[in-house]
Amino acid sequence: MSAKIIDGKEFAARVRADVAKHVAKLKADHDITPGLAVVLVGEDPASQVYVRSKGKTTSEVGMNSYEHRLDVDTAEKDLLALIDKLNNDPAVHGILVQLPLPDHLNSDLVINSIDPAKDVDGFHISNVGLLGTGQKSMVPCTPLGCLMMLRDHHGSLSGLNAVVVGRSNIVGKPMASLLLKDSCTVTIAHSRTKDLPDVVRGADIVVGAVGRAEMIPGDWIKPGATVIDVGINRIDAPKKGEGKTRLVGDCHFESCAEIAGAITPVPGGVGPMTIACLLANTLTACCRANGLEEPQGLTA
Ligand code: NDP
Repeated sequence: MSAKIIDGKEFAARVRADVAKHVAKLKADHDITPGLAVVLVGEDPASQVYVRSKGKTTSEVGMNSYEHRLDVDTAEKDLLALIDKLNNDPAVHGILVQLPLPDHLNSDLVINSIDPAKDVDGFHISNVGLLGTGQKSMVPCTPLGCLMMLRDHHGSLSGLNAVVVGRSNIVGKPMASLLLKDSCTVTIAHSRTKDLPDVVRGADIVVGAVGRAEMIPGDWIKPGATVIDVGINRIDAPKKGEGKTRLVGDCHFESCAEIAGAITPVPGGVGPMTIACLLANTLTACCRANGLEEPQGLTA
């Protein structure tokens, strides 16, 4: 293995410590405590784990955490009424509605009812438009975490060829917008892309956001390129560690690490950065709401 391992766990701990330092200063200087409200509808086990983890981490950095757990059959008008209340609550600076929502709820309608200034997931159509036009917005957490790691590793990204494999609204497209904003030459690849291996071979930066276990092998990687693996896939065949299953990314770690200059592992790469960036976004939203300077290095 020759690649530098980009340690997302360690990086996320640094981001959280930075957020905590700013939160303490906000309290001391202005008597303001950032607040994050998380809304969970139903009892999806994975969502419950995420929400618990978000609440715990929010409190750990000194922010106020507000959890709203609603029944699986909650009527849309009741969910919208709760969001309206949170939009108007000055103690709440960030609102996150945990996705996926139960089928009877219109996710687009619900997300677009959040005040864009409090939309810490960056999914509101206004934030999507602002990011797409290179303006100040709330930025989706996972791509923001990838961008932070890339900036940390490369310094300037200007002029680098970046290939984002995947065009989803939550990862692929915002990632491409962020890389373009940092002056990369960006290609977005997807399931209809022709000659994908050759497209990826042209990249100085490869972002894998496909959702297919170990789909990108080392011989698609340009020597010295940086590989950011967003994928989280659970597979059988427990070669590493214990248990019957294990987590792998969208990139084949061992072969990519032979060729790449730097690579994020799975687990322990992009994953831990997502919650850290949620906290960073809540802090940013709080500073903006109070007309205060935004923290450096925690936004796009
Ligand atoms: P989606 O399923 O929404 O999108 C997957 C994308 O991959 C689509 O654009 C699809 O193309 C493309 N794709 C599928 N198959 C191929 C193929 N054979 N060749 C090229 N492109 C292909 O996934 P998400 O963006 O939501 O998530 C991607 C991965 O990232 C998942 O593993 C997910 O678990 C993980 N993830 C991790 C997070 C983290 O915190 N680390 C957060 C969010 C996601 P098309 O549009 O043509 O169908």
